[in-house]
Amino acid sequence: MSHQPDRPREYVCEDCLSVHAAVVHGQPGDRHYEAPDECAACGSDDFVDINEYPLIE
Ligand SMILES: [Zn+2]
Repeated sequence: MSHQPDRPREYVCEDCLSVHAAVVHGQPGDRHYEAPDECAACGSDDFVDINEYPLIE
């Protein structure tokens, strides 16, 4: 449980509830993920980590 393979995070747009893959920054071994700058569907920049979004299983 201490180390899990890298996998893309996902974010949920709080306005239209679209799910977006995170944008990857950095190099292999030093990678981090960020929410997209804006929602491709509605243009909002309000995202929540899908793991913290209570309404999506
Ligand atoms: Zn949206």
